[in-house]
Amino acid sequence: MDFSFPPEVEEFRAEVREFLAEHLTDEMIDATHDGTIHAPALHAAMAERGWLAGPVPEELGGGGRGALASVVLNEELQLARAPIDAMAVSIVVASILLEHGSEHLKTTVVPRLLDGTALGCFGYTEPESGSDVAAARTRAVRDGDEWVINGAKMWTTLAHIADYVILLTRTDPDVAKHEGLTFFLVPLDTPGIEIRPVPTMAVERSNATFYDDVRITDEWRVGEVDGGWTVMKTALKYERGIAGGQFPSPPVIDAAVDWARTHQRADGSRPIDDPTVREKLMRALIDVEVCRGFAYHTAALAEDGVMFGVEGSMTKLFASERYKQHCRWFQDLMGVEGLLTHHNPDAHLGGRIEEHLRHSPVTTIYGGTSEISRNLIAEGHLGLPRAR
Ligand SMILES: Cc1cc2nc3c(=O)[nH]c(=O)nc-3n(C[C@H](O)[C@H](O)[C@H](O)COP(=O)(O)OP(=O)(O)OC[C@H]3O[C@@H](n4cnc5c(N)ncnc54)[C@H](O)[C@@H]3O)c2cc1C
Repeated sequence: MDFSFPPEVEEFRAEVREFLAEHLTDEMIDATHDGTIHAPALHAAMAERGWLAGPVPEELGGGGRGALASVVLNEELQLARAPIDAMAVSIVVASILLEHGSEHLKTTVVPRLLDGTALGCFGYTEPESGSDVAAARTRAVRDGDEWVINGAKMWTTLAHIADYVILLTRTDPDVAKHEGLTFFLVPLDTPGIEIRPVPTMAVERSNATFYDDVRITDEWRVGEVDGGWTVMKTALKYERGIAGGQFPSPPVIDAAVDWARTHQRADGSRPIDDPTVREKLMRALIDVEVCRGFAYHTAALAEDGVMFGVEGSMTKLFASERYKQHCRWFQDLMGVEGLLTHHNPDAHLGGRIEEHLRHSPVTTIYGGTSEISRNLIAEGHLGLPRAR
């Protein structure tokens, strides 16, 4: 078995590292503490290189960079702690529009999402429907050539900086729940939209969004009327594609290794000299290798034209659950020092482990919870009977 990447992919990895050394600054990473995981200058520089269009399939009008290069880009960005949430979401929105959008959306909105001049966000979840996303109740009612939208969405992350929300609505309440849904792309400056901040236990800020007699023309519809579930499946396909390349733990492991090497205990020893500390660090590093195996396997399948099924969910489940565990281990090892936050000048590496500890649980919730991932793997990979 040859586990190495083709030379052009390794060359691309070197190019990404060089790019990040030049364009990613500590200030950009620190700025995420205001709650928004997005660096406009980095985003623009990546767009200029064509890296936003890169992962979008060529047959859809994207860069067609291929899955191996895409996973390498994703890996390097995460290892470097680049704030890329808005980038990842905007690429998914563009891909959905290229598959299901009208000519109007393909020619006016997609180019802006891919050249970095506009941002998208997801409007699927509602106060009463998250995992069961097809239970959405936000109503869209036709009025001539217009649609009138009323309802509320929860966890519309990035809505406060985005230009467009891809919105799941109910257009027919009298049929089975999967059959009466329709998607729209809604410009967020349309009258009737209110965006309220929702703080989280992590640094990340999310939003609640409200739609009060919001009027848009039919050219903003995405996919068929009442055909929203088909679009939702495409959205989940791309979201799980991103989930297939997750490396949240390495920055925390780096911080833990640094602490273990530099911290002096009262008896003059360093934590790294302690075999129980080294064992935890090694176990975490082995988990990262497993994540790498999952991610590269998923990318190799995609590169061979096999549309992966549950592999993205497997990586996401393993990476996020282990990440949560790693953060707990390391904060525990550090004792009281592990509780110091970013704003405390004595915090080790700007309180990185404490910050990740608060962030890690949300990674087991958004993009599909761990329980939903387990259901998908049980049914799609292990062949167990459907549980829902
Ligand atoms: C920080 C953050 C950012 C987010 N960003 C966005 C965003 O940008 N756009 C967006 O649309 N959504 C977003 N979400 C929403 C996210 O996708 C949902 O929170 C998630 O899908 C779970 O839905 P819920 O919160 O309604 O929980 P529920 O679905 O109510 O689940 C509650 C619990 O029940 C479990 N459960 C539910 N159904 C099953 C089942 N069938 N089998 C076993 N267990 C089950 C779940 O695993 C969970 O533990 C975000 C969430 C968070 C926390």
